Amino acid sequence: MEFNELLEFVTVENKRLSAKYNVEPGHGVLARTVKLGEEVGELCAEILAHQSLQRTEKLEKSSNDTLSEELADVLITTLLVAGSLNVDVKTALRKKMEKINARYH
Ligand SMILES: [Mg+2]
Repeated sequence: MEFNELLEFVTVENKRLSAKYNVEPGHGVLARTVKLGEEVGELCAEILAHQSLQRTEKLEKSSNDTLSEELADVLITTLLVAGSLNVDVKTALRKKMEKINARYH
């Protein structure tokens, strides 16, 4: 999958969520940030299960698929937050990657 395909999906999803929850485009940042916290919690639960650090009931519901799904939720929700804040994700990532690379020179 190309990164642009993901960004286009997020743009469409941002519009669908705004319509579904009756939020003006660009004004859902608080709800989406709280949702990001929820998704990070779900990813943490999957990582605990992956490391066999959960109760048996939770271990039985966990798999590599559910771990991957929660990781995807975090990525998509992060991009939804960025979209709500009109952050240019490509530029932000490029600058951050340059900064990280500079640590090794
Ligand atoms: Mg989730």
